[in-house]
Amino acid sequence: MKFDSLGLAAPICQAVAAAGYTDPTPVQARVIPEALAGHDLMVSSQTGSGKTAGFMLPALQLLTEAHAVAGRGPRVLVLVPTRELSMQVTKAAEIYGANLRRIRTVSVVGGMPYPAQNRLLQAGVDILVATPGRLLDQMQSGRIDLSRLQVLVLDEADRMLDMGFKDDLEAIVARTPATRQTLLFSATLDSNIVRLAGSLLRNPVRIEIDSQQARHESIEQRLHIADDQGHKNRLLNHLLREIDVNQAIVFTATKRSADEVAQDLHSKGFAVAALHGDMNQGARTRTIQALHRGRLRVLVATDVAARGLDVHGIS
Ligand code: AMP
Repeated sequence: MKFDSLGLAAPICQAVAAAGYTDPTPVQARVIPEALAGHDLMVSSQTGSGKTAGFMLPALQLLTEAHAVAGRGPRVLVLVPTRELSMQVTKAAEIYGANLRRIRTVSVVGGMPYPAQNRLLQAGVDILVATPGRLLDQMQSGRIDLSRLQVLVLDEADRMLDMGFKDDLEAIVARTPATRQTLLFSATLDSNIVRLAGSLLRNPVRIEIDSQQARHESIEQRLHIADDQGHKNRLLNHLLREIDVNQAIVFTATKRSADEVAQDLHSKGFAVAALHGDMNQGARTRTIQALHRGRLRVLVATDVAARGLDVHGIS
């Protein structure tokens, strides 16, 4: 199957081709036609499945036609659990929408200074990509009008529930038009997600992509039992020096242990940085960029990096 058989407008197909994609992924092949037909969707799909284009391409298609009501409020809202994912989705919108005229994409996340954020919102928004806490905050100060909203996307919905965003999500959705189309993406469609979908979606089409198939076949899992912290650090040092390790992510349970492990690896000569929620947004962004550019070999992170990050060099 090719992208141009999915019903997408030519400028969108051209942007997809320019991005180097030839064929839609399984998620895209299922999601795009249903989304274009206007259905609500409940989709199980993993990071790396191509789900971002799955929701963004049909959303962009909608923006090729003028809205009946003039205004500055967003027509598409994508809710994401983390700031990093927000940046990634914003970038995807810009790439896929490169051939469409006057599409404004704005990211609203915590940690960003309010004056800069307020100016962006003031200038008008077509696609708003946001984390729930800061969005609600901005809505309560009257800076965001969702009355023109046509498409609501809940990306990594299970993760948003895990992070305690349920009440925020419901408060946000309550202020969107009932006529909206809602697209929910989640790694799993467990009972919590199904319950959330029951209250937010209208007769959703359920799309489950075989996660076995979508999962990377090259992933090998190993368990190492360590005697103590010193032994654990030596094991880690040894593993990271294996010849076929290009870049690596090390997850830790706490922010403090992320800093400690990063310091230990730094003292052993690794190009390493920590990433966690106590860092300011500028530092988090620079760290992710350094990882993307290959300047970091090891990222030591808490679960802020557990989902959605797409870095090609990670072995
Ligand atoms: P996502 O799961 O949306 O985070 O996408 C994972 C990665 O797949 C990103 O690097 C995309 O640029 C890439 N990608 C998305 N769709 C396609 C496609 N149809 N063909 C090849 N790569 C794709």
